[in-house]
Amino acid sequence: MPPLISDQCIRCGNCYDICPGDVFDWPDRKKKPVVYYPIECWHCGACRLECPVQGIEYHFPLGMTHV
Ligand code: SF4
Ligand code: SF4
Repeated sequence: MPPLISDQCIRCGNCYDICPGDVFDWPDRKKKPVVYYPIECWHCGACRLECPVQGIEYHFPLGMTHV
């Protein structure tokens, strides 16, 4: 499941900067980034780790729950 950006987002841009898959786009810096390429997310967890307000949620696909 691709990441979801909650309303807790303070628009720091960390997720946009760190995502190795370029999942996010951030066309309007006054708003939160958007999940633009959800299929490119491989659940590395980097965006969630770097978010200062725990504003990113996602659920691991069932196939990854054993790792
Ligand atoms: S979990 Fe990894 S690949 Fe997926 S959106 Fe976050 S940083 Fe990008
Ligand atoms: S890292 Fe968190 S607070 Fe920063 S832009 Fe992304 S979702 Fe918003």
